[in-house]
Amino acid sequence: QCPWGAPNTTSISCSLADVMSEQLAKELQLEEENAAFPEVVAVAEGPFITGENIDTSSDLMLAQMLQMEFDREYDAQLRREEKKINGDSKVSISFENYRKVHPYDSDSSEDEVDWQDTRHDPYRADKPTTTPRKGFIGKGKDITTKHDEVVCGRKNTARMENFAPEFQVGDGIGMDLKLSNQVFNALKQHAYSEERRSARLHEKKEHSTAEKAVDPKTRLLLYKMVNAGMLETITGCISTGKESVVFHAYGGKSATEDKVIPPECAIKVFKTTLNEFKNRDKYIKDDYRFKDRFSKLNPRKIIRMWAEKEMHNLTRMQNAGIPCPQVVILKKHVLVMSFIGQDQVPAPKLKDVTLSSEDMKKAYYQILNMMQQLYNECNLVHADLSEYNMLWHDGKVWLIDVSQSVEPTHPHGLEFLFRDCRNVSQFFQKGGVAEALNERELFNAVSGLNITADNEVDFQAEIEALEKMNEDHVQNHGKKLSMFSSDGDPPIYDE
Ligand code: ADP
Ligand code: MN
Repeated sequence: QCPWGAPNTTSISCSLADVMSEQLAKELQLEEENAAFPEVVAVAEGPFITGENIDTSSDLMLAQMLQMEFDREYDAQLRREEKKINGDSKVSISFENYRKVHPYDSDSSEDEVDWQDTRHDPYRADKPTTTPRKGFIGKGKDITTKHDEVVCGRKNTARMENFAPEFQVGDGIGMDLKLSNQVFNALKQHAYSEERRSARLHEKKEHSTAEKAVDPKTRLLLYKMVNAGMLETITGCISTGKESVVFHAYGGKSATEDKVIPPECAIKVFKTTLNEFKNRDKYIKDDYRFKDRFSKLNPRKIIRMWAEKEMHNLTRMQNAGIPCPQVVILKKHVLVMSFIGQDQVPAPKLKDVTLSSEDMKKAYYQILNMMQQLYNECNLVHADLSEYNMLWHDGKVWLIDVSQSVEPTHPHGLEFLFRDCRNVSQFFQKGGVAEALNERELFNAVSGLNITADNEVDFQAEIEALEKMNEDHVQNHGKKLSMFSSDGDPPIYDE
């Protein structure tokens, strides 16, 4: 968060942990300072100098401008050093990470990097105000901050030397610059938080080699989530699939009170290489929810729609009470959700876990129930349901991976459902659940349709006939069927 945001009447907030950890350091620092400036009365109020300043806006403005100037000078210096070292060499060293005005914070020129994807973005830092407030014009001596004393100002300037060594304080120390208490305190606060932020950035960069699996733009999105404090740390990669990479992260603090970020999160990054998605066209192209948008979008945006689709589908499932990850936030092709598992260990897939016959039976009935809920309450067909996309956690089955899920009236929706049913039936029949319905029975039980064919070929033919009937209806009437009936009759037309 930008400490130079709107002036706050209360002091800059600081967590208890921060206060605790810095308390000692501040006390030590004060002792040192007091030894260095024995002629000035010791500050009694505590680590921060407090005054009776009420009107502090101009001071804050000054602090802000100073800070910006410091950062600029520091970065300019870095760039000079960088240039000097690299010269004409083909291999170059970058000091980018050491910049104060971090490129990731300020680079808005790249239009693809629109962090503000969703309408409401609670994590966006306030932009510093650039309009000077009243009572502040000019530089140097012309700056009048009515509560300041020359001695105190000089002392504050000198005390800046005590900031962390890498904190750039400009030329102020060499000059006869007088910093007001407010400015000094603000700078000091900034120095502390900058130190922490910087440490966090560097730590993150060094420890997350897994991130190299994602492209720079994705990395940028992830950085922003960490920098915004929404995620505490990204610990590593859970899964690398053909279409997505999933990371584990510890949740941070939410910018808004009403939203709670889970202690552990899964970050699903949809791969932005197009060929991976070519074969998935049929899922989304024909999904009427996305129909209007599909034709207008470029391929990159279509990939984002996968992430969006997964988000919407998860939300529907959540609302129906189906155990599944809870959506935290969606940014472009990056979906953050709650982590199913504990202490960085993801819950095992159903295919990898050995269940007792009792649990196996329990899991089967739960899945049967969930498939019905998914169909009837969420109006969805999973379309990739198998023991690979079901996790066993907390004594129950959790459904994941729903980016390809479609509504039952999707042109291939019933085929997808049948495939799901086949996977589920076979898994549980092989797993020794005697009660498990066969795929055709399961299909009817889930869809409420009453397809009587007693062999797979005929059954599938009937499914396709139903789909075609629905498609023709859409062609002729320009709208989809309201729903398939639930009592086994032929589809009801919405007229
Ligand atoms: P893919 O399309 O690559 O199969 P998935 O959504 O199935 O994407 O995620 C891949 C793997 O990542 C899953 O099999 C599971 O092990 C893990 N995973 C995904 N989401 C979560 C989550 N919310 N909690 C825990 N593990 C997850
Ligand atoms: Mn999967």
